[in-house]
Amino acid sequence: MGLEEKLPSGFLLTTVEKAAGLARKSSVFPATFGLACCAIEMMTTGAGRYDLARFGMEVFRGSPRQADLMIVAGRVSQKMAPVLRQVYDQMPNPKWVISMGVCASSGGMFNNYSIVQGVDHIVPVDIYLPGCPPRPEMLLDAIIKLHEKIKDEKLGVNRERAAREAEEAALKA
Ligand code: SF4
Repeated sequence: MGLEEKLPSGFLLTTVEKAAGLARKSSVFPATFGLACCAIEMMTTGAGRYDLARFGMEVFRGSPRQADLMIVAGRVSQKMAPVLRQVYDQMPNPKWVISMGVCASSGGMFNNYSIVQGVDHIVPVDIYLPGCPPRPEMLLDAIIKLHEKIKDEKLGVNRERAAREAEEAALKA
């Protein structure tokens, strides 16, 4: 007989890892980081009509030290790139990044010297969200998908180191 069958009803078994994953995904704090027109849709997502608060994350933090999600909303200029990286570095681990809109993900229509051709040149990206601009429903969908990812993440994994190692392995291959 398994342990679950021996327990009286009303008991729920889980692991520390799963409990931590549930807690983390239910209280993600985005950093305030709008860069261009996509940011208008991001702000709309946080307002009453789309009610981002349903997911425990309506408070956009003014300080990166209080945030664990960066939504890169808009094209990233070369001048802004080091600032973006600094904000990312100031966020405590674990942390996640959504690249919102085609400009953030690939430079979009701004295929020129002044725009970074994809924010993944600057920071590791967890979710790429297409569109110009993506509607609030699309951002909500991306956030829900990110929640699924956060829920299943292993405890104690250094994501930056893992990304660096994967990058080095890809270069060697
Ligand atoms: Fe603006 Fe479209 Fe680029 Fe978003 S994807 S920053 S809406 S041009």
